[in-house]
Amino acid sequence: MIDVHCHLNFHPFEKNIDEVVAAARLAGVKAIVNVGTSLESSIKAVELAHKFSDMYAIVGIHPHHADKLVPGLQSSSPPAGLKVTGDWIGELEKIALSSTKVIGIGEIGLDYYSYKSNGIVDPKIQKEVFIKQIELAHKLNLPLQIHNRHAGEDVVDVLKKFKHLLKDVPGMFHCFAATKEVLKEVLDMGFYIGFDGNITYKGLAPGETVELKDLAINTPLYRIFVETDSPYLTPVPLRGAQNKPENVIITAQFIAGIKNKTNTYFQQTIYNNFRTVFGVEIK
Ligand SMILES: [Zn+2]
Ligand SMILES: [Zn+2]
Repeated sequence: MIDVHCHLNFHPFEKNIDEVVAAARLAGVKAIVNVGTSLESSIKAVELAHKFSDMYAIVGIHPHHADKLVPGLQSSSPPAGLKVTGDWIGELEKIALSSTKVIGIGEIGLDYYSYKSNGIVDPKIQKEVFIKQIELAHKLNLPLQIHNRHAGEDVVDVLKKFKHLLKDVPGMFHCFAATKEVLKEVLDMGFYIGFDGNITYKGLAPGETVELKDLAINTPLYRIFVETDSPYLTPVPLRGAQNKPENVIITAQFIAGIKNKTNTYFQQTIYNNFRTVFGVEIK
């Protein structure tokens, strides 16, 4: 199986990463994609991809961090050793070009959920940072990995406006949640759809109107990905514990069940999808 979106580049894994990777391999996880949310975590994702043969990196600025990049709006100081100048997109380009194991630009997009820590980042700034990264992905010929929370229609608007910059296979939405209309729009644009452990939770998440299970039913198998978003979104029955890439197997089996497919067939489909979107062959 493949975990196409997780954050072993985040602090909670600093001490136990070797164990976590060993457990994932033992469970049958053949590739792990660590995703950046800032310049710092993007660099870390690339470092991990160099350290572990079965790891890849997707690099980008999460909309939640968009207001920490625009000059004059810095709400936190840059991490030690990293020069964040006005030219953050230039820095990101350097990171993306630093390794052939960078397979996409993400997680990028829009997020209108009000977080306790910093509320909602000004949507104007979010859009500016999103668009700059769509342009960068175009320049580097890389697919997108998109983050959307409560902003589906605006994300679709931006993508439609910049459709000329998208690849034929434009990329994927990670941790998908939206209306069926938004799902249809993004499938029509050619995007793939990632589901996480929260698909095993009962009921609707706050602010959502369609069950994730329903969205998976409406997503063709040849457009599906599974992911963990570790350390978050641990699937049932392990919910409450810190999530790890090995748990992608639980979500994969859950969706294979919904789709009435064997685990082997489902896994082969995921490998095919990974090759189609990210150009990586899994044996
Ligand atoms: Zn996300
Ligand atoms: Zn994430």
